[in-house]
Amino acid sequence: MIKIKIDQDKCKGCLLCVNFCPRGLIKKSPKLNKQGLNFVEFDLQGDCSGCLQCAVICPDCCIEVYKSE
Ligand code: SF4
Ligand code: SF4
Repeated sequence: MIKIKIDQDKCKGCLLCVNFCPRGLIKKSPKLNKQGLNFVEFDLQGDCSGCLQCAVICPDCCIEVYKSE
């Protein structure tokens, strides 16, 4: 099982991860973080492959990908 953790208060809403996720599992939130920016959210129902592209592309290292048994 794959779990994605996004540091929403650190996210600047650049949407790079949204554009790079091959499965379209990351979306812009209508909510604002502490910086007053729209952060991104992971689709918990989605079938994440754990490809790490979102974590690698984020310029601010906001995304962590965990694999569990
Ligand atoms: S690990 Fe890959 S499939 Fe999963 S959310 Fe990130 S980019 Fe998308
Ligand atoms: S790439 Fe990083 S900073 Fe940009 S929207 Fe995604 S999580 Fe936020």
